Amino acid sequence: MDDVSPAGRGRRTGVWCAAAATALSCTVTGGAATAATAAEPGRPPGWCKPDGALTARAMPQRIKLSECDLRGRVVRGENGLAATVPSDGTSVIAHSLRTDGASELRVEVDEAKGEITLAAAGTRSPQGRPREFRAPIDACQDDAYQQEPSKWPKGSAIEWHYYPGTAGLPMSGVSTGIAGMFGARTDCNAARTFTPPPDVSQRYAGRTATPPNLTAGGVCGDRDGTNVSGWEAMPGADADVLAATCTWFRGATTIENDTALQEHGKRWWPGPQDGSPCPAGSYDAAAVATHEAGHMLGLGHVEGSQHSALTMAPTVAACDDDPATLGKGDYAGLIALYGARSSA
Ligand SMILES: [Zn+2]
Repeated sequence: MDDVSPAGRGRRTGVWCAAAATALSCTVTGGAATAATAAEPGRPPGWCKPDGALTARAMPQRIKLSECDLRGRVVRGENGLAATVPSDGTSVIAHSLRTDGASELRVEVDEAKGEITLAAAGTRSPQGRPREFRAPIDACQDDAYQQEPSKWPKGSAIEWHYYPGTAGLPMSGVSTGIAGMFGARTDCNAARTFTPPPDVSQRYAGRTATPPNLTAGGVCGDRDGTNVSGWEAMPGADADVLAATCTWFRGATTIENDTALQEHGKRWWPGPQDGSPCPAGSYDAAAVATHEAGHMLGLGHVEGSQHSALTMAPTVAACDDDPATLGKGDYAGLIALYGARSSA
């Protein structure tokens, strides 16, 4: 394997490191592979820099705390996505949804083993039609889904607070999106809802003056015990970022989730429900919030152009309100995670 210096990182597409829960290999198309540098005994390895953000690509995927204690440090994944390594024994998954793709960064902390596992993935929508393009399957026929390594306990009622941000954007898109994912809203049947619903529910617990635990750079920070979704100005985030979600978990159990929709430099459409046409270049807040609520519940991205009609596809186009309603696979993923709620 080759060493990759941070300076050697360029814009490239098709980067997948440990994309699947079972695979810890790193596949990089159009670039070199990540590798570790062997350390001398008693000295931290060269990649374990004492200051600033660390780059997952330039580090091994499995790190001994005795070799480099990353807790409290910021680790960067693909496409500018980054997370603070939890110091409280929890693990974190960061997701960002971009105008041109999406990124995921997993930081799994196992204090019992004294080990941290990193996995970073990123996709960019290529310009034009990619070579591997396959026509999208109808969302009502496409049963693909991906699960993240953690979920809430079955039957949970997840309390969340709304952070309104500072730009005066409406709450409706955020709450509609969260309700739509939990309630399995769809256009695939006349009832406009998949039944039975998954055995998990959400409860709006009011506004909060505390923003989601994301920094102005869109970096997952330290969790505070409260689930918060809402608008946040993240001027330091990549210009293409629409929203970011941080999910903290212990073992296989999710314990906290924060979601921020970017109110800095992005234009948003309240959605079709109030009858107003979508201003060009605006994004449907409900569509984005529905996708992010899928991450909150433990769904990952479904990759490949054939799955692009699903809510959990890693792209949302301007003025696209389709992700606000679930496809067959989005619903199947929820049922796989939580089972069906009994009607009793
Ligand atoms: Zn996403």
